[in-house]
Amino acid sequence: MGGFTKFVMYIILLITFLGLINMIFNLHRFAFYGEFLILLVLLLVAMISALGINNDSRWAWILLTLFFGFVFLDMLLIKAISTEKVYLFLPFIIVTIVGFFISLFSIKKEKVEAVEEVEKEFSPGKYIASKSGTKYHAPKCDWAKKIKKANAVWFDSKEEAKKAGYKKDDCVK
Ligand SMILES: [Zn+2]
Repeated sequence: MGGFTKFVMYIILLITFLGLINMIFNLHRFAFYGEFLILLVLLLVAMISALGINNDSRWAWILLTLFFGFVFLDMLLIKAISTEKVYLFLPFIIVTIVGFFISLFSIKKEKVEAVEEVEKEFSPGKYIASKSGTKYHAPKCDWAKKIKKANAVWFDSKEEAKKAGYKKDDCVK
């Protein structure tokens, strides 16, 4: 995940909380207490998510999508019970919607990237070597067949294999 997306997400989270705080301090007693508790829980969820996206964890984007979905509904509720003018809340609600879609988009993007990585790992090249070995082989060589999938390193050319520090086996012409 790009560093820029993370940066934007941290800004959006900050604005979302400023918005929520601004909104709930216009509420009266019981509504205020209830929303204040919700705010604390949301703050915890946001902090866990922020740590997660910093480590490129896919679950963090899923959590953030749920987070923004919930915040959006919560903001609509506050808007409904608040006496404050509605247009003051609008920018924060829009930022929350933007946060929701960035999170949702990031979940899908991470999935695609993961699939591409797996494909790259198992697409064979012309020559194969073992991570623990010293020689590279043609894939049909008996030694090549003994190399475990997890230890296999593939090369597209002899030069590539040589550069990686492997010598050619007799099976390679
Ligand atoms: Zn060989």
